Amino acid sequence: MTYRIEVDKEICISSGRCVAEYPERFRFDDEEVAEGVPGAPALPDDAALRLARACPSSALLVFDADTGEEIDIFAS
Ligand code: SF4
Repeated sequence: MTYRIEVDKEICISSGRCVAEYPERFRFDDEEVAEGVPGAPALPDDAALRLARACPSSALLVFDADTGEEIDIFAS
């Protein structure tokens, strides 16, 4: 399975954790809200889950890249 992460920009609190840890994959927009870097390669699945679980506002949503189904990051 390959996971895809999206930032819910409505609930990101700009902690910077994802940007600091994976600057090639996440960046801040003009309002200091995180977003994915276009065209960046996907994280390995275990890293995607770990990062999403570490987001302090649960703004990193994980999806199955094939089906588009959202993954329950705490049950996976
Ligand atoms: S870790 Fe979460 S709250 Fe922090 S910048 Fe990234 S998406 Fe926003």
